[in-house]
Amino acid sequence: MRKIGLEEHFVTEELVAYGAGTSTVARPEAWREASRRLLDLTYERLPEMDAAGVDVQVLSLNSPGIQAEADPAVAVSRAAAVNDFLAGVIAEHPTRFAGFAALPLQDPQAAAKELERAVTQLGLRGALVNAHTQGRYLDDPALRVVWEYAEGLDVPLYLHPANGYDVPHVLSGHPELIGPMWSWGSDTAAHALRLIFGGVFDDFPNAKLLLGHMGEGLPYVLWRLDSRWRFHNHHGIELALGDPSAYLRRNLYITTSGVCSAPPLLCALLALGADHILFGTDYPFEDIAEAAAFLDNAPISEADRAKIAHQNAERLLKL
Ligand code: MN
Repeated sequence: MRKIGLEEHFVTEELVAYGAGTSTVARPEAWREASRRLLDLTYERLPEMDAAGVDVQVLSLNSPGIQAEADPAVAVSRAAAVNDFLAGVIAEHPTRFAGFAALPLQDPQAAAKELERAVTQLGLRGALVNAHTQGRYLDDPALRVVWEYAEGLDVPLYLHPANGYDVPHVLSGHPELIGPMWSWGSDTAAHALRLIFGGVFDDFPNAKLLLGHMGEGLPYVLWRLDSRWRFHNHHGIELALGDPSAYLRRNLYITTSGVCSAPPLLCALLALGADHILFGTDYPFEDIAEAAAFLDNAPISEADRAKIAHQNAERLLKL
């Protein structure tokens, strides 16, 4: 079955240094191997895709990417350069690659304009954002302009994890909990909830948010979010749709990246529906053959499998 992977990372030599913070959460030898494969766009990647049966990778710059840059002007120029590079790679392999833009969110107006350029001129399919940008989250009023452009262009923003802005006290003394195993997921789920309660989806009802890793746990907690929201809300916040789960069912799309396990997939299917789940592998940090085999053999209907494998991506990303 045709497969389109939505969380497929790369890096360029110029931008490798931005990964320094991420490298600290990985075993050194594992990081070296991943770094080598992130830099390769074709030589090993295409044969590996062929072997796994992955037809298309929607490429994205590896976390935290441009967002680790402290100087907004540098972020603006480097985002444009890497998006140009990505468009060039896709142009050479148009049947195998699509791409998500990197955005210089340090300068919100420039980020919105870069998203527009990336979509309308470079043919990219949206943007991938790695957690906070210098401590600023996507519900920040200054970043409404980015959502305005994303909704107007009808492209998704993929919210991908990165190291948190700081280390929560509960994680102090436990560096093993910092990284993709735990803190990245809880951090990203909290970031997604900020968007709901921060009014992003009331301001932009047609905005589309993508989360990896089977939704970072959110599909599992819909009922409890609603129940405890009704009981505990005394902050003067009103949600146009009433319950937080209504936004997760409407605005959220998730990918299977980095999760090869049937129980969370079945939960996500029941919670969000088959139209909101898309295939992803988290290349090169996960085994893409395992990810593809997991989807091929998952205990779901053939109609749902086709939606997850490629039909939803074709619709959402206009592929
Ligand atoms: Mn990833």
